Amino acid sequence: MRQVECIVVGQGIAGTIMSYHLWKYKINHILIDQSLQHVSSSRVASGVINPLTGRKRIRTWMADELFPYAKEMYQSIEKVLGTHFFEEKDIISFPPNPDMVLNYENRIASGESFLHNDNAEQWQHYFNIAFGTKRTSSSFWLHLETFLNDWRAFAIKHNFFKEETFNFEEINSTNDGVTYKDISAKYLVLCTGIKAMNQPKFESLPFSPNKGEVLILKIPSLPTTHIFKGAFTLVPIKNEHWWLGSNYDNHFKDEKPTIEFKNKALQYLQSWLKLPYTLLDHKAAVRPATVERRPFIGFHPTHPRWVIFNGMGTKACSLAPYFANQLTLAILHGTSILPEVDIRRFHKILMSNS
Ligand SMILES: Cc1cc2nc3c(=O)[nH]c(=O)nc-3n(C[C@H](O)[C@H](O)[C@H](O)COP(=O)(O)OP(=O)(O)OC[C@H]3O[C@@H](n4cnc5c(N)ncnc54)[C@H](O)[C@@H]3O)c2cc1C
Repeated sequence: MRQVECIVVGQGIAGTIMSYHLWKYKINHILIDQSLQHVSSSRVASGVINPLTGRKRIRTWMADELFPYAKEMYQSIEKVLGTHFFEEKDIISFPPNPDMVLNYENRIASGESFLHNDNAEQWQHYFNIAFGTKRTSSSFWLHLETFLNDWRAFAIKHNFFKEETFNFEEINSTNDGVTYKDISAKYLVLCTGIKAMNQPKFESLPFSPNKGEVLILKIPSLPTTHIFKGAFTLVPIKNEHWWLGSNYDNHFKDEKPTIEFKNKALQYLQSWLKLPYTLLDHKAAVRPATVERRPFIGFHPTHPRWVIFNGMGTKACSLAPYFANQLTLAILHGTSILPEVDIRRFHKILMSNS
């Protein structure tokens, strides 16, 4: 029997960042994920970390705590892996109407230090611009494919990765921990994204699954120095490839890409981008969003060896680092988890279903 402190299930953004923290604090663990043929939200996402949100361009929740921690963590992982996947990249926004221009200008006037006026002329060769451009600084971008693949390779090399579909029927729980096949662990840490809605113990948490679609394009001469945000966002990924997305669909029929999204996105692009492009791919995935837009983190009230790290919604890249640290310290020292994200707020629902 192989003995570890934790079994981590799921190697999306959440599971990868959780695994990094366990590794950093020298907590012996095994990371389990399915083959890469399975679609996951983390491998469809654009990897943008934007400190401003909504029409009013207000700061995202806890940005001042989350962003510095995330930056430091991603740069530390780059050093550990000897790879490069994290960049500071300003976002150029294209307000769609005079009201939005006013929103931006009010925020700049009120002292929002991440928001700046911008010289739209420099973009006129590439885009049709109706109401000027604005720039958001202190935004980041991570190349998720590199980040996720390189951590997986690191875990394989150091013998703490297993590729398989975790079978919940093969788990035995005791007061002191869990056993799964030939592995015994003190904690089972579930980072399975939206699949948690159909898995035991946490399926009653109030998820609000949200489907998003993207197009992958080749655009040869668009400068890769910035992210461009109109009604859709263009994010440079690699080798003249661009990510164009996305939508937020709460009433989807299935997880597949739709012709409606493709037509809408291409129609918008036609009116926005002046450059020729080639469509390479069309993908869709379901975000593990939650009804009250806060993550689900912590220990099951009646099965405290079962732990969840999930519900990252639209902001996994900025939320996961800070809260993976909090959860790791809670596992290690029993310290507290921020009440707004701690699943103890749902203890009645969780207890009635366990
Ligand atoms: C179109 C789109 C754009 C997005 N853009 C951004 C963005 O720019 N910035 C941002 O921060 N967020 C973005 N998001 C949100 C982000 O992608 C999600 O919040 C994040 O990926 C959730 O990560 P996760 O690890 O919790 O879940 P997932 O990515 O779903 O990972 C879960 C993993 O668990 C595995 N798994 C599940 N069940 C099992 C099992 N039984 N056995 C083994 N493995 C299992 C899955 O295979 C998967 O690898 C976007 C999402 C979408 C769809």
